[in-house]
Amino acid sequence: MAASEPRVRVDPRLCEGHALCIDLAPEVFDLSDDDVATCDEQPSMSSRDAVTAAMNACPRGAITIEPAQPAPAHDRSERTTA
Ligand code: SF4
Repeated sequence: MAASEPRVRVDPRLCEGHALCIDLAPEVFDLSDDDVATCDEQPSMSSRDAVTAAMNACPRGAITIEPAQPAPAHDRSERTTA
């Protein structure tokens, strides 16, 4: 198993539907029918800067980017065999 990619999350308890995130990264964020942001949790590498800008712009601090998890130790050892 390879290392996981960073994950983007929106906390619906904090989101107030300002839509700044959608302005900055429309390919990643959207608004649900109840005016809470939703997101593509694993956006493409090309969207990372826009996602970071959206996270920094969110007035509610509702957006988080969880760091990638390293591959399990046994996977790393498998890669070193020649
Ligand atoms: S900018 Fe923040 S508060 Fe506004 S819609 Fe996006 S996640 Fe919700």
